[in-house]
Amino acid sequence: MAGTDYQLVKDIKLYRNIGIIAHVDAGKTTTTERILFYTGKKHKLGEVHEGAAEMDFMDQERERGITIQSAATTAFWKLNDELYRINIIDTPGHVDFTAEVERSLRVLDGAVVVFDGKMGVEPQSSKVWFQAEKYLVPRICYINKLDNIGADFYKSYESIVEHLSDKATPINIPIGIENDFNGLIDLVAMKAYIYHDELGKDIEITDIPSEYQTKAQEYRSKLIELVADADDEIAMKYLEGEEISEEELVAGIRKATLSMKLFPVLGGSSLKNKGVQILLDNVCRYLPSPVEKDYIYVDPETKEEKRFVGKIPGNHPKTNELITRELSENESFCGLIFKLAVDQHVGNLAFFRVYSGKLKAGSYIYNSTSGTKERVGRIVMMHANSREDIEEVRAGDIAAIVGLKSSMTGDTLCDENNPIVLEGIDFPEPVVKFAIEPKTKSDHDKLAEALAKLTSEDPTFKAQTDTETGQVIIAGMGELHLEIKIDILKREYKLEVNKGNPQVAYRETVTTEARHRELLKKQSGGAGQYADIDMIIRPLKRGEGYRFVDSIKGGAIPREYIPAIDKGFRDSMNNGPLGGYPVVDIEMEIVDGTYHEVDSNTDTFKTAAFYGLKEAMKKANPVLLEPIMLVNINVPEEHVGAVTGYLSSKRGIIKNMIDRGKTKEIIAEAPLAELFGYVSDLRNLTSGTAVPSMEPSHYQEVPKNIQEAVLGDK
Ligand code: GDP
Repeated sequence: MAGTDYQLVKDIKLYRNIGIIAHVDAGKTTTTERILFYTGKKHKLGEVHEGAAEMDFMDQERERGITIQSAATTAFWKLNDELYRINIIDTPGHVDFTAEVERSLRVLDGAVVVFDGKMGVEPQSSKVWFQAEKYLVPRICYINKLDNIGADFYKSYESIVEHLSDKATPINIPIGIENDFNGLIDLVAMKAYIYHDELGKDIEITDIPSEYQTKAQEYRSKLIELVADADDEIAMKYLEGEEISEEELVAGIRKATLSMKLFPVLGGSSLKNKGVQILLDNVCRYLPSPVEKDYIYVDPETKEEKRFVGKIPGNHPKTNELITRELSENESFCGLIFKLAVDQHVGNLAFFRVYSGKLKAGSYIYNSTSGTKERVGRIVMMHANSREDIEEVRAGDIAAIVGLKSSMTGDTLCDENNPIVLEGIDFPEPVVKFAIEPKTKSDHDKLAEALAKLTSEDPTFKAQTDTETGQVIIAGMGELHLEIKIDILKREYKLEVNKGNPQVAYRETVTTEARHRELLKKQSGGAGQYADIDMIIRPLKRGEGYRFVDSIKGGAIPREYIPAIDKGFRDSMNNGPLGGYPVVDIEMEIVDGTYHEVDSNTDTFKTAAFYGLKEAMKKANPVLLEPIMLVNINVPEEHVGAVTGYLSSKRGIIKNMIDRGKTKEIIAEAPLAELFGYVSDLRNLTSGTAVPSMEPSHYQEVPKNIQEAVLGDK
């Protein structure tokens, strides 16, 4: 059908841009694969093997071809004679990739949150849940693996209510459980669906078995109560004891789900092909189309929040004023790039979401974030195992542009005559580094090329060559993040590398204010050099970065040299005076100075600023800052003591402990420097039962004794 697919669904109301989000191993991959199977685009069922290690999991993702890897996949599903276009946006389930999840959440309109029916809510599922909350993404909960030994639909559901939202309620409940799980009861239609074959295609729709009548009534009442909370008409009928029709209930659930006053809960077993088609029906029924999604706009000045429905807010690139766009193809074009990827057959792909208007292949487009014009070579849409060239995309679509040259993730593309900048996507700075070198010397160029590709695809991954040692340094969000890149180098680029020990990405800053006068004066023989800058350095709050304040009066330093001083400071901040780490969170104010008519120029002032900053820092009690990680560890009760003891020995601080039935979730903060190898330590301490995850949280001052040890090693 390639070539015609795109024409199938034109009405934006029939679009569903969704993400499938989950804790690792809850079944995101299997569920996505089954969706693609049922939507007719993938015709062979594959399986993930039990007990796959983290690396195997990546491996398999890759071996499954474009399907799972692709940033966005388009599929079609029929419900009540309407054909829907479902764009599935990939959301990595892995704990080290929160930034990746965030960028997907930015461009999707609704989400299916997959839970493991035995585990219920797990650390990553709760984290992603609250991220989705922030981006106003309506959600359906899917309790998977109901065929598994130990699965408990109701307990998992209760953990959702307890940890995520008391607005979650089942719209279907399982018939049988574990090996006997063989059907679902629809609480809206009050019908039972019984599965009769392995592929889940032979489904009998029948009356609710008598032994499930009471339970079904009980949960249906719960559902109606929640819907009534969000819908006055249904509330009236409910209170007066009137019958609520199936149609009314569907409309009510939809309304409540869209406004996030209800989170429908469904059950299933993706592996055993039960419940996935029902899930798809409900995605179409209850998740929003692009025009029904809410957007938040935060005023950059007042920080006031405004909510928009059916319109996306942004700013004018020049005046910064608030502008909104209807999510309609009749408006001027605007879209957001959410992922860059390199495809070995077509080259650079920029995945983007169209919010308004239309864009044709072969045309030009304005990147309002960078202020550049780009040619749109080809536009392609990804399906499960094929790629389709399309002529034109329009509001609601998700596709990829081939051949953009200077556009980055988070950039806005729009009509140059009617520009808008949408909110960008922030990525955290890397906290950990490795030095690497190719095992074969002659592979140097190949390595540089491969790293250029990998860094362009993943904004949280950095690579650079150390100018002093010639070593290649790769940096990222965690040890695992970098291990995975090394694995990709090996498998996809056939590049074997040696790697050094992981290193913490320390920063430097100051803790007090200090004044310093830097005088550069070389006037003996030949052309002289002269610059004199009187400066004050001050500490800023964490995360504020750098601020330059020009308080020069009466031309003590001529105007034309001021930008050079700013530049000199910035350059100097790349290497702090303590250990050569980047400098952050300082204010540099220039208050006075002198210059020489002949011997001063922009270069001399830049040089004086460069050295001056280092001297100023030394006077202002400089300190090292280290990355602190937010650590979540899910562990059976009997190992809690061992884990908390371990964390304390690692300078960790336990922040919270949450009951998860038989397991406890320990939430702690600990310095990254202490956490290398913590995954295997925890495995040893807990007989392999701990489920850990971590992500960068913030930077914090390194204790004095440790600072000395770190700097002593330099
Ligand atoms: P992901 O990490 O969330 O993408 O999870 P996967 O889809 O890779 O699944 C993780 C493991 O759980 C694999 O071994 C799957 O075969 C298994 N799995 C997935 N869905 C089910 C299910 O419905 N029932 C059972 N018993 N196992 C499942």
